[in-house]
Amino acid sequence: MLKTVAIVGRPNVGKSTLFNRLLGQRKAIVEDFPGVTRDRHYAEITRYDKPFLLVDTGGFEPQTADQLLCQMREQSQVAVEEADIIVFLLDARDGLTPADREIAAMLRRTEKPVLFVVNKVDGDKQEAGTVDFYRLGMDAFIPLSAEHGRGIGELIDALEALLPEQAAVAEVETEVRLALIGRPNVGKSSLVNRMLGYERVVANPVAGTTRDSIDTPFMFDQQRYVLIDTAGIRRKGKVSEALEKFSAIHALKAMDRAHVVLMVIDAVEGITDQDLTIAGYAYEKGRAVVLLVNKWDVPEKENHTMARFVEEVRRRCKFLPFAPLLFVSALTGQRINKIMPLVAEVAEQFNRRITTGQINQGLEEFLAKHPPSLVRGQRLKFYYATQSAVRPPTFVLFSNRPDDVHFSYERYLVNCFREKFGFDKVPLRLQFRGRG
Ligand code: GDP
Ligand code: GDP
Repeated sequence: MLKTVAIVGRPNVGKSTLFNRLLGQRKAIVEDFPGVTRDRHYAEITRYDKPFLLVDTGGFEPQTADQLLCQMREQSQVAVEEADIIVFLLDARDGLTPADREIAAMLRRTEKPVLFVVNKVDGDKQEAGTVDFYRLGMDAFIPLSAEHGRGIGELIDALEALLPEQAAVAEVETEVRLALIGRPNVGKSSLVNRMLGYERVVANPVAGTTRDSIDTPFMFDQQRYVLIDTAGIRRKGKVSEALEKFSAIHALKAMDRAHVVLMVIDAVEGITDQDLTIAGYAYEKGRAVVLLVNKWDVPEKENHTMARFVEEVRRRCKFLPFAPLLFVSALTGQRINKIMPLVAEVAEQFNRRITTGQINQGLEEFLAKHPPSLVRGQRLKFYYATQSAVRPPTFVLFSNRPDDVHFSYERYLVNCFREKFGFDKVPLRLQFRGRG
């Protein structure tokens, strides 16, 4: 499981600049899918030796001093509760402010590591003016310039000293881990109650990886499942709804550990920007996704109500065309008994292995049916393919010109793999490699 690093600090100290600097480049999803919110506040950072989940806890601008204080309290609270490492960002241009002292006082209560980082130290001149920050009482701080990249290496070194060594091998998994994700009040805990009411809970819930997260194992159709962070779903009112909505750290952490993400959408409100942000993360991580439209008892139905809803979700969630959609009601129980059979089917596809013989027989067919076009006068050739991973199913195709496979041809091949081998409900990845 990835460790979470949260950036905390007043507005305008440079949190999102630092976030983008550490991210390095914007990920494909932002460019490829218009409508997915551009303003991102979390990302898996993988370009350094140790990967981590980075969260920018800023984002909504308070209008008044009271709101500012309130927001900072909540931010710090979320950071302290949810993050593993806290980066407290200060601003060399503003110097030490009362608000900084307030945040420092709140962070002092945590036992989690806090890195003090002074931003906007663009040159030696600014660096000389930073001694004042020692009045916060820390042993050391890292001066840097998020905008110009100065000092970023020192920050990475400090983070990596705190991050654990990566696990070398993945253990063999026999259980399917489910995460139930969605905004507050969409009906997650009602759904949990319904679902666990139907399925046989095999053991007492066991403590998860963080102090107050509880995972609930249960059996369905002779397969063992674990519902992640059941306690977190049921726990209410710890942070304000606005912040919960915004930070979504909980959802991200649950998704990190999940195989299948059950994304709950409110039938009354439809799919929201936050739903898309979360769905986007599931997509990037290659998770299997089942979309549950809950509260389907509420809308008045006419002939095309469901079809129109499907169309709307598909239009906004273009990057998840494979995710099955189910209309349910935790209140009336409508189609609740369809959830687990669907999850089972998705999990089976997600874990399915195809033999190399079958793959290459299929590949020959796909190529014969629709041969690749010439690239600069040369024929693109594929020699051989094999499945390199499950969860998500991933295939490596060896080619004479792996970098020249056109996007449209890749899409053609992905669709062929889906159809031929029955991967219609899960993400599927193709990788092109040279013959080595
Ligand atoms: P946030 O509200 O904490 O997310 O702050 P932003 O990242 O939006 O940055 C606020 C302002 O500070 C922007 O105008 C940035 O361009 C500027 N800024 C951020 N980092 C630096 C830096 O290292 N040096 C200087 N001079 N300005 C910076
Ligand atoms: P959570 O915050 O996502 O865990 O949502 P809850 O399960 O606490 O549900 C929020 C509210 O929506 C509660 O008042 C539930 O009774 C109500 N609710 C949940 N599911 C349904 C449903 O399928 N239909 C209707 N009409 N209300 C529901």
